[in-house]
Amino acid sequence: MRRIRKSSIVSYSHYGHTKVPNTIQTSCPTCRKTSSFSLKANYQKSKNGFLTEGTCSSCKKDSTFVMILKGVPDDTGNPIDVYIYDPHSSKQPINQLEQLPDIPPDLVRAYRSALNIYQWKDNAATAVMSKRVIESIYKHFAGAKGNGQPLSEQSEQIVENLDLVKPIRYLDLLLRPENPFYEILELEKELDDETAAHLMDLLENLIDYLFVLPGNIEITYTNIQQNSK
Ligand SMILES: [Zn+2]
Repeated sequence: MRRIRKSSIVSYSHYGHTKVPNTIQTSCPTCRKTSSFSLKANYQKSKNGFLTEGTCSSCKKDSTFVMILKGVPDDTGNPIDVYIYDPHSSKQPINQLEQLPDIPPDLVRAYRSALNIYQWKDNAATAVMSKRVIESIYKHFAGAKGNGQPLSEQSEQIVENLDLVKPIRYLDLLLRPENPFYEILELEKELDDETAAHLMDLLENLIDYLFVLPGNIEITYTNIQQNSK
């Protein structure tokens, strides 16, 4: 499930006391294009919300939308949260890996095997496959120079080849005064719905990259150190 932001809801209609989205602009789970979905009014209702379909304006395929009622109704009606069923939106990297450019296929295979084996609670095999995943990551970044060297000796090549600053360079390009995006932030140019949604994605990705991921890796490192003593 992927949450639909308010800024992505283009128009509303009414269903009982609830203001429900009529048209939603979002990325299509089938064709991956940002397109417009007109939601059907034949809702399947349950106690906590309702379910409907919307048709993608690009590929004409239907997607499922879920609306969850939250809190108590106020003057404007029942507040709701809107979600689209998108199997690719899960935060699990395996669901995102294959869609990204330049992902080594052996990394995808090794990581998928590691996840499967872990599910079967075979811890020895999990250790073997996890090492293979790390080797695959190292091979990707250490390149030919790292070939055949023990993992512990490949770090230098990785630091050399890994460009962790790249995302910040993109941000820097956006924030230059000559970029139209700069004018949007300075309120000199209007922010449209689609760019507003992209802006929210940018904030989420930046916070993930700069704070959430490094923080989580640090916490995991500490946990592993403590457990493997
Ligand atoms: Zn589509």
